Amino acid sequence: MLEAADREIRLGIWKIHILHHAAAHEVWGTWLLAELAEHGHALSPGTLYPALARMERHGWLRRSGKADHARARQSFRITPAGRRLLTELRREVAELYDEVVRRRR
Ligand SMILES: [Zn+2]
Repeated sequence: MLEAADREIRLGIWKIHILHHAAAHEVWGTWLLAELAEHGHALSPGTLYPALARMERHGWLRRSGKADHARARQSFRITPAGRRLLTELRREVAELYDEVVRRRR
C-alpha cells in the first residue's frame, strides 16, 4: 500500500493518465485500475473513485451512461474543459520530462 505522501504527489500523475485515456475513449474504474497497474501504480478503488468524482466536480470528466445501468454510471468521458486542460498538461509534461529526465536545464 502506498504511503499518504507518495499518494499525494502521484495523484496528479494518475489524473493525467485518466484525462489522456478519457480523451481517447470511454473509461471506467476497473479498466483504469488495470491500466494504471500496468504502469506499476497499484491504486485501490478507494483512491481511484474519489479522484474520478473530484475530476467530475471540476468539470473535466462527465459520466457517460444512464443512471440505471451500473457500469454505464461508472463510465466517464472527457469534457471540453478537460480537453483544454489536457492540452496544457501535455506541454507541461513535455517540459517537465525535458528538465527532470533529460536534464536539459
Ligand atoms: Zn495510462
